[in-house]
Order: sequence, then structure tokens, then C-alpha cells
Amino acid sequence: MAAHDPSTRLALALAATLRHDGRGGVADDLTTPDALAAWVRDHADDLPASAPGPAADAEALAAAREVRAAVRALFARAVPGEPSRADAGRLMPVPDALDVLNTAAAATPVVPRLTWRPGGEPAAGHAPAATPAGAPPGRALAAALAHAAIAFLAGPDRPLLRACHAPRCVRYFLKGHPRQEWCTPSCGNRARVARHHTRHHP
Ligand SMILES: [Zn+2]
Repeated sequence: MAAHDPSTRLALALAATLRHDGRGGVADDLTTPDALAAWVRDHADDLPASAPGPAADAEALAAAREVRAAVRALFARAVPGEPSRADAGRLMPVPDALDVLNTAAAATPVVPRLTWRPGGEPAAGHAPAATPAGAPPGRALAAALAHAAIAFLAGPDRPLLRACHAPRCVRYFLKGHPRQEWCTPSCGNRARVARHHTRHHP
């Protein structure tokens, strides 16, 4: 997955903050401002420098969680077949999800930015423009997450998005090869054991 671009990594990482807890339930990594700050530190390489650092507050948390709900609703729409069972029964309606993403993204307008490393190819990216006067503080992170989600959902990686349906797993992942069905080999093993069990113990 390291080969994908920062937007793809960030969008998948945000969705993956709802994860299986190892006991058949679902754990949430974004429940407090401190937890959000830790997550931001862990993903600093993929976030623009303007995203807030460790000083995440309740407003930043609420905004990030709303963007995550929108992202997961749109991931559910993007995958063939059933969505992740973590939230399949309580997904945000798609028009609301689009509105949440677009509203969050608008908090930090971006401008095009050219980079050209020695020995590399010129690359187009984006950099935050000046934050509009009166924009609520604490929205910069949600804006950066929304920008990443928009780039991923409208980009070349989206057709590879899948929900893993191995027992207990609730993950969205990118298919790395045409026959890949599970997010990881360990999920594949669990799924095969479960199928074998079902076949022999109907
Ligand atoms: Zn899995």
C-alpha cells in the first residue's frame, strides 16, 4: 500500500479508524481529542503542514468524525457487493455525505503547487491557500481529510476499493492483484477456515 499516493493512504487510514477489536466487535480510534492528536501525529507524513498538530480540540474531533462518517458512506457506495459490516446498518445517506465532504473541504481552499525534486519528474500538487477570514478554527484537519477523500474517490485508485468480509474484519482495502479477496493473508486464512468449518459442520 506504500506505493499509493498520500490522498489514498489518508482516506483509507481515516476509514480504518473504525476497526475490529479482535473480539468480534468494533473499536473506534477517534473518541477523544487526544486520540485524534495521536492519529494526526501517526499520519503527519500524509497530511499537509497546515493540518493542526497535537492541539486537536473537541471541534476538530467532531469535524473529523463527521468527515469519516461521510467517507465510510461513500466507500460503501464505491465497493462492489456488501459494505463493511462495521456501520452497514447506519450509513449516512449519500447526498448528505457529499454535502459533508464538500462543506468540510471548502474550509481550506487550495491552490496548485508544482514540485520538482532533483533527478525526479515535475509533479503537481496542492497547497492550502490562506484560510478565509471567519473560518472556524479546528476545521483545517477536517478540510485536509476531505480533500484527500475527494482526490481518492475521484481518482484512479477507487475502482480497487473493496470491503473485507473475512470473519470479524470490517476493513476497507485496495485490491493489489486481480484475485485478491481479503485485506490480508491472515484474513484469507480465517475466511478459509470458516468456510471449511461451515462445509463440514452444516
Ligand atoms: Zn480483512
